[in-house]
Amino acid sequence: MLLTDRQASAFRRRLVRALRDKGIADERVLDAIGRVPRHRFIPDTGLHRQAYDDVALPIGEGQTISQPFTVARMTELLEVQPGDRVLEVGTGSGYQAAVLAELGARVFSVERHAALLQKTTPVLKALGLSIRTRAGDGTYGWPGYAPFDAIVVTAGGPTVPTELTDQLREPAEGRPDARLLIPVGPPERQALHRITRTGADTLADETFDGVVFVPLVRDR
Ligand code: SAH
Repeated sequence: MLLTDRQASAFRRRLVRALRDKGIADERVLDAIGRVPRHRFIPDTGLHRQAYDDVALPIGEGQTISQPFTVARMTELLEVQPGDRVLEVGTGSGYQAAVLAELGARVFSVERHAALLQKTTPVLKALGLSIRTRAGDGTYGWPGYAPFDAIVVTAGGPTVPTELTDQLREPAEGRPDARLLIPVGPPERQALHRITRTGADTLADETFDGVVFVPLVRDR
């Protein structure tokens, strides 16, 4: 059954409360989640009633829209500032990209399944969000728009592609250092790493929660 706008906003308020209870503390992130209509990013309307439960759901091509808690947690750890240039690897449904854009980021997002982008791009356009998408292997980043203030990889792999750390901007006076958030580990479970560019040739690596993502696939 389809959701009305009223039902959707009531469900979103409930989701925001649930995320706050689970430990998401950044009110800007919670506000963004409270504004983005997650059900519109789920192609199968039969699943729309579950859109505001804290679960991952299928979006086609064997891929999933991430669990809202994971999106909230990654967005929080990314510490996005309005005006930041943010690269996302793994557009999928477009939901994470939309949350980043709601926070005022200029988002560049790469997805290897062109068929998913065909469904996602019209949704992003209809919401009027500042997001540029491209089909291709995002482990190579998006050199034409680099460097980035922040990069988020929403698929998990065994290693951190150096192409991505190379596309983090160098430290600049008065601005937070650029950072890459990426799940690293075997297919069953990965750890979230935040890699910060602290100098032209130096990176810092912090490890956060365990997560389970679909595989980050390297095409060439
Ligand atoms: N951020 C998405 C999560 C989608 S799941 C959302 O909010 O819905 C992860 C996505 O990463 C999948 O769509 C998968 O096809 C894509 N992916 C995996 N490896 C990739 C790669 N090397 N380059 C670009 N996209 C990739």
